[in-house]
Amino acid sequence: MNHRQQFLRHVAQTSPSPVGIEIVAASGNYLIDNTGKEYLDLIGGISVCNIGHSHPKVVEAIKGQAEKYLHVMVYGELVQSPQVQYATLIAAHMPATLGCVYFTNSGTEATEGALKLARRATGRTDIISCRNAYHGHTLGALSVMGDEYWRNAFRPLLPGVWHHTFNSPELIEAITSHAACVIIETIQGEAGVIAPDPEWLLALRARCTDTGTLLIFDEIQCGFGRTGRLWGFEHYPVIPDIVLLGKALGGGLPMGAFIASHTLMQLFTHNPVLGHITTFGGHPLCCAAGMAAMQVLLEYNIIDQVEEKEKLFRSLLRHPAIINIRSKGLLIAVELDSATHVTQCLNRCIQKGLFSDWFLFAPNCIRIAPPLTITTSEIHQACEILLSCL
Ligand code: PMP
Repeated sequence: MNHRQQFLRHVAQTSPSPVGIEIVAASGNYLIDNTGKEYLDLIGGISVCNIGHSHPKVVEAIKGQAEKYLHVMVYGELVQSPQVQYATLIAAHMPATLGCVYFTNSGTEATEGALKLARRATGRTDIISCRNAYHGHTLGALSVMGDEYWRNAFRPLLPGVWHHTFNSPELIEAITSHAACVIIETIQGEAGVIAPDPEWLLALRARCTDTGTLLIFDEIQCGFGRTGRLWGFEHYPVIPDIVLLGKALGGGLPMGAFIASHTLMQLFTHNPVLGHITTFGGHPLCCAAGMAAMQVLLEYNIIDQVEEKEKLFRSLLRHPAIINIRSKGLLIAVELDSATHVTQCLNRCIQKGLFSDWFLFAPNCIRIAPPLTITTSEIHQACEILLSCL
């Protein structure tokens, strides 16, 4: 059996038609396969590789930490400097009320931790979420996912979860003193890039405050500069009670986090003690890599160029087959008339050395979410290929 056959036989599959290119290297904004062919990466590991693949500073940080120590103890007992430094750096770039970081291994675990914290803090059980929301695939996160097709086979899920339309007044009206929390993606990703109406977000914040409901912003996909600000919520005059991070947080290593005030987070220390535990959350190697990536993101002014690059994509992507383009920074959905056309186009792009994807709840849209380091000439090149494949 060759590697591809072994992949299909021994690596658990969830896609009925995996892309199946064999990757031997990835560097900067390119993936390289086992024939030496290069692919310009338009999705960056789904909003993970925001500073490109295998950035030398990240590799150096990983090597440096690997030589010191790897796993030493379960979460929260020993002072591990990569964890402490990274939490401190993140807190320094958050509003003052979001100063305490709980590191997890993935985005979905960040969702789980936040939902637990909201229940623990309020003593309430109801959770309000959005249609077409994506917060992960474990059972709690799946319960707040906003699409019946993906949820139904796994019932029963969490009770007391109510889904309403993003940006709708109904969602705000549904928030009562029974709700533990409202969880939204600050900018909806898998729905095909839907940004919140600023007035709606303000009303949402006000209603949560009035009813004592915690407001959770999932920044797992839209954080770390993706939308042109460090955090997506910085586009709006609204501060949530809990923020979820993931994806780019680990600089290419697996990591998630939920962030709240110190007071809220302290609730996990009693009734019960050890209210949320993890063996590997905040792994020193992941923290070292993530911190190096965040420092690169901040020091090289990468975020400042995101909106210009968004504009360039939007100006170049003109074609009769394109029905609409929705974007927030370098999170771009290019809408075609059908999912079939999207698949055909993506397959042709791969032939021509351009790697892209679609959205879970918007399969008729091409996903453009490249490393934020994509250059102007690479954007021209990507759009030329994309247009020729439409
Ligand atoms: N929330 C959002 C907004 C996401 O995009 C994702 C991943 N696509 C998750 C949560 C789940 O993260 P993970 O896959 O690391 O569990």
